This record gives sequence, C-alpha cells and structure tokens, in this order.
Amino acid sequence: MSLNGKTAVVTGSNSGIGLGVARSLAGAGANIVLNSFTDRDEDHALAKQLAEEFGVGVRYIQADMSKGDQCRALIEKAGQVDILVNNAGIQHVAPIDEFPVDKWDAIIAINMSSAFHTTAAALPGMRKSGWGRIINVASAHGLRASPYKSAYVTAKHGVVGMTKTVALETAKDPITCNAICPGYVLTPLVEAQIPDTAKEYKMSEDEVVEKVILAKQPSKQFVTVEQIGDMAIFLCSPAADQLTGQPIAMDGGWTAA
Ligand code: NAD
Repeated sequence: MSLNGKTAVVTGSNSGIGLGVARSLAGAGANIVLNSFTDRDEDHALAKQLAEEFGVGVRYIQADMSKGDQCRALIEKAGQVDILVNNAGIQHVAPIDEFPVDKWDAIIAINMSSAFHTTAAALPGMRKSGWGRIINVASAHGLRASPYKSAYVTAKHGVVGMTKTVALETAKDPITCNAICPGYVLTPLVEAQIPDTAKEYKMSEDEVVEKVILAKQPSKQFVTVEQIGDMAIFLCSPAADQLTGQPIAMDGGWTAA
C-alpha cells in the first residue's frame, strides 16, 4: 500500500498512539504533519528524525487542540490534507460530583471538539482534490462506560457520533470517516501508572497489568501502536473505500462482552 504524494495530519503526535500512527503512515510513503501544543526543539527534531528515517516530508506544526481557532489554523498551515487523524487526547479520573470543571472543559475541547474544527476545515480541500480519509482515534470508551471517566466517556461517545454523521455527509464523495476504538495501549502515559499502582495495590507490576489495567480486556494483552498504525493504513487503502461511519474496536474483546 503506497501513500506516496499524500499528506497526513496527525493531531497530538509527538508521543504515544499519534506518533505510532504517524510513523506507520510515513512508512507507507505519506508526508506527515506532526502536531502538539508545545513548541520545543525536540518537537522539531522529531520531525527531522522521521523525515530522515522514512524519506518523506515531515513538518511539525504547533497548535493547541483545546482552541477551535488553532485547530482550524493547523489545517490551513498544513495546506493539502489528504488524511486527517484526530488523535489528540487527555484523561482525568474523578467522580462526576467532584469532577473539576476546567478538566471537563479541556477534555471535551481536546478529545471531541477539536475533531469538529479540524474536520470542518479539512473537508473542502478533500472534496476539491477528490480523495480523503478522516480517522478519529476514539476508544473502547466510545462504546462502553467506566466509572469516574465521565468527561472522557462523553467525549469519546461524541466522537463516535460525529464519525457516523460525517460519514453520511460525505457518503457520495470519495471520502471516508471512521473511528478506531482501541482498548488499552501501552503508551508512556499508561506505562507510567504501573509502578505506583503496584505499590498502591501491593501487587507485582505483572499482576497490576493483568488484574487492574487489563481487567476489562479479555485477551489480557495491550493493543500496540503499530497495530493501530496498520489499521490506519488499511483505512487508507482501496479495500476500505466502502468502509465508512464505523467505530472499529481493537480491544482484545472488551466490547464483545
Ligand atoms: P499520549 O499522552 O501519549 O498522547 C497524547 C497526545 O496528545 C500527545 O502527543 C500530546 O502532546 C497531545 N496533546 C495533549 N493535549 C493537546 C493539546 N491541547 N493540543 C495538541 N495536542 C495535545 O496518550 P495516548 O495514549 O497516545 O493517546 C492518544 C489518543 O488515543 C487519545 O485520544 C486517547 O484518548 C486515545 N486512546 C488511548 C488509549 C490508551 O490506552 N493509551 C486507549 C484508547 C484511546
């Protein structure tokens, strides 16, 4: 599968799943726009490193996905956007009656509304060029709830709803819109929680992974960023031309139950 000549914008891609998907798409030949809200030397160095490793064009564009105007500016600065991966996301865990309002607002803005702004800004260009792929990184929490994650679950269910709506609005165009819904992925964010949780529960780190973190994931294995990247490539392939509006669960069986 060659994505030579296509440009992919991946929001929130200086770490974790976003970086993994960006690497996969670069490996398939796409030019990449990396993004996060920071503007550090290491962000630009990462772009340079990917460009050298994969022999594609890679730019880093700073934009804060909690701000609608910056989401739209990212798409404008990117220029041609053939593949849009809405991935930026944060988490906060608290009971709803104690949930900090600023965290609620940030999660709804970054995890959900950013995809509205980037999609709205990218669609006219995709229609003009005659091809487009919108891939929303939702979550198993776009299909199932867990306690204490009200903002995250709300935002991710919202993204799944937006995915279906955009698919219907683009059904007659050569554009598809799908949501990848991963279960737990061993990103630095999740990895960092293991030692503390082990101390808290007085368990070994292996037990924490199996009994706490992967409690809901029947396979008892993490999803990998490479698997998510391969799914993104598949969604860009001709085999997926008629695959649109779908939440695609990659969760070791979590949402089968
Ligand atoms: P991560 O923290 O490694 O990556 C999040 C990315 O979003 C980072 O690049 C970060 O810089 C960026 N980001 C955060 N706030 C931003 C902002 N205001 N503007 C721009 N970028 C911002 O976490 P991850 O696990 O790779 O998560 C990526 C996506 O995958 C999220 O949407 C998350 O909800 C989703 N997801 C993760 C898991 C998991 O188990 N790790 C499971 C399902 C879904």
